[in-house]
Amino acid sequence: MKLSLPIKLAVFVVLLLAAVLNVACAADTASLVILHTNDLHGQMRAEKDNPGAARIAAYFRQVREKHPNVLVLDAGDSVSGTPLSLLFEGEPIFEIMSAMKYDAAVLGNHEFDYGYKKIRKYRELAAHPLLCANAFAPDNSLLADAPYRILDAGGVRGGIIGVILESTPVHIIRAGNEGIRFTPQIEAVRKIVPRIRKKCDLIIALTHLDEGEDTALAKAVDGIDLIVNGHSDMLEKPVKAGNTFIVQAGEHGTYIGRVEIKIDLKNRKIIGLEGKLIKASDLPLPDAEIGKLVDKWEKKITEKLDIRIATSTRTIEEEEVKELFEKIIRQVTGADLAYYNLGGIRKKIYEGDVTVRDVWKIEPFGNTIVKLKIKGEDLGGVLLEELKASGVKIEPDREYTVATNNFIAERTENEIGSPVAGSVNTHVLVRDAVIEYIKKNGID
Ligand SMILES: [Zn+2]
Repeated sequence: MKLSLPIKLAVFVVLLLAAVLNVACAADTASLVILHTNDLHGQMRAEKDNPGAARIAAYFRQVREKHPNVLVLDAGDSVSGTPLSLLFEGEPIFEIMSAMKYDAAVLGNHEFDYGYKKIRKYRELAAHPLLCANAFAPDNSLLADAPYRILDAGGVRGGIIGVILESTPVHIIRAGNEGIRFTPQIEAVRKIVPRIRKKCDLIIALTHLDEGEDTALAKAVDGIDLIVNGHSDMLEKPVKAGNTFIVQAGEHGTYIGRVEIKIDLKNRKIIGLEGKLIKASDLPLPDAEIGKLVDKWEKKITEKLDIRIATSTRTIEEEEVKELFEKIIRQVTGADLAYYNLGGIRKKIYEGDVTVRDVWKIEPFGNTIVKLKIKGEDLGGVLLEELKASGVKIEPDREYTVATNNFIAERTENEIGSPVAGSVNTHVLVRDAVIEYIKKNGID
């Protein structure tokens, strides 16, 4: 049978249309799984509620085996909080996270704990990009690898923009961080989104922001599909602000975030999103390779830290540990008063053996003891409230000596009041003083 040219053409057009439609249908939507952690704080080994890097990595691998499109993200504060991180200044954490195969991370305020120059080392160690659009070195160069990256997850293009709190200087030590600059997070994201929107199927802001700031960012900048946040508040389920979903997992890996997204590729829109947190106890068995890597590092510190210094007959809550720390730093300095911030006490003392490692966990920052002078009338902040509550009489004209730590000495206003010039940093580590005291006096 011979077909006339118009009919041939018509058949061709129909066939072509069918082919195009078929392709369009097949690629109209895509799914993407995002796994996320935040505030790991160096917790690489399994312990109590913390699953450890090996189980987290096993979960990442399991999900990757099931789904072609996966992005694994971390929302900052990877370091500081464990002896492993402290003894090696955070470096093993980035080596281990690399082996866990993260796709991207944002800088958190604790990544500045050893000075901004250390971040260069972290960038070398991490196989994944460290992103941050609004943190700058004194010479105005970006402190991170890049402000954003467009990552391909099995054909789905995710534009990942990193931002950190503009108020980061309040949260970090000054030493080693002189001259660095943080620009407003909203402006930083607003500049990037329109530039990359067309090249991406979805845009994710990977943020390290205070409570409420993630919502403010979502409302202020159009076009962010998802915010993966760290630093502030764990979210059991994704919340929506404007057209943006916000998620945040638990610290120390106690809860791993998992978000399943359905994307309308044509309109570059999320058409379905489900998020949940995976409990440590629901994670698979440890990944052997990562387990070995963690063990290798842990062995280096065991000899130093797993030494029993006392036995506690009860569990001592953080508030009471704070009082103990105050007693100790007051004794060391011979000061009239002492103030230790509750936020600087990171763990309670559990009933049973108390080891050097336990003290390191309670005070993971390596703070030193500082002695200040404050006139009675210039005492303020939390310290003054505490003194009033315990009925201490303050003489306004008297000059008091106050023992505290270097973190508080750098930001006295809301905590202890306005000191007169000339504070003295003893350079005695708080935890060394605490370990000595407990060795000598026991714990109860
Ligand atoms: Zn933080």
